[in-house]
Amino acid sequence: MTFLSLSHLEKSFGPTRVVKDFNLSVEQGEFISLLGPSGCGKTTVLRMVAGFETPTSGAIAIDGADMVRLRPNARNIGMVFQAYALFPNLTVAQNVGFGLKVKGTPAKEIAGRVEEMLDLIGLPDLGGRYPFQLSGGQQQRVALARALAPRPRVLLLDEPLSALDAKIRVSLRNEIRAIQRRLGITTIFVTHDQEEALSMSDRIVVMHQGVADQVGTPFEIYNTPATRFVAGFVGTLNTIEAEVKDGATGRVALAGTEVVLHRPMTGDRVTLGLRPEAVRLGQGSCELGLSGKITEVDFLGSVIRLRADLGGQSLAFDTFNAAHSVPPRVGETVVLGLNAADLMVI
Ligand code: ADP
Ligand code: MG
Repeated sequence: MTFLSLSHLEKSFGPTRVVKDFNLSVEQGEFISLLGPSGCGKTTVLRMVAGFETPTSGAIAIDGADMVRLRPNARNIGMVFQAYALFPNLTVAQNVGFGLKVKGTPAKEIAGRVEEMLDLIGLPDLGGRYPFQLSGGQQQRVALARALAPRPRVLLLDEPLSALDAKIRVSLRNEIRAIQRRLGITTIFVTHDQEEALSMSDRIVVMHQGVADQVGTPFEIYNTPATRFVAGFVGTLNTIEAEVKDGATGRVALAGTEVVLHRPMTGDRVTLGLRPEAVRLGQGSCELGLSGKITEVDFLGSVIRLRADLGGQSLAFDTFNAAHSVPPRVGETVVLGLNAADLMVI
């Protein structure tokens, strides 16, 4: 059953519509990411849910109750921002207890809840410190504890990891997800980082110029992108131009080979998408073997990213490193193996 619902949400600033007919139904306990490039309207959606922005039109409901007319602090929503928004003059414990104090919770109860929250984030001994005495990662964990302390019904996270170092970012990803699962709290997480969204989410909303282009599981978003934008924004995608030979069966010619895609298509030409990992070096057991000339070799450690030219079209693909085999060299002619089922019509 839908717990949080956003229907036909619109937001304009002056004449500019920055969120357009945005619809989303979130189940209780779900972890949803809003993924999209800077400026696509992610923060604006989050701020409308939190109550910091009023929608131009549309509805927001939690558990069936209309939220739009409620003030932010009457909505019972927790929020964490990108920049460490801790109160610098308050200790960690005072920061975490802040929301409860505002609500008039008795001091003894606050102390108990603060202890519980500091345990939850793995910082049980740091209650007496001030924010400036903490690392960036610790500050964001405290910000999370502060948001969770009043037991919100919904947690909103606006790029909470983007100011942190790469290593801490990855470990905090897992930590946030583990805490979210343990509490079972319905969460909307905003990010422009596709890897973050793919690794953390139950479902992802890919946003583009104020519109939700696609809503789906990470698997669906990556493997069956609904629009050309989604296909290009999430992951790396090769695009190949092919000539349509028979539109009814989807028989096309690409790089000197004919292939039947079993999908009807119109027009003389079609653009096909192909993920780098769907291409093999050597035909192996693949249906198709295309001849190409290596133009780039990028040794990345566990993986070698290669680029080949197929009669004027450039194709990026990966091969796993194996200590006993020598990777191809620039200028070498190779056979690339691929299967028709991996060619997306976009
Ligand atoms: P994102 O979080 O995806 O980067 P935002 O929701 O912050 O995007 O912004 C979406 C668009 O709305 C941007 O073009 C931004 O400049 C504009 N915008 C956001 N807030 C305001 C505001 N208060 N007044 C005018 N324009 C705004
Ligand atoms: Mg933003």
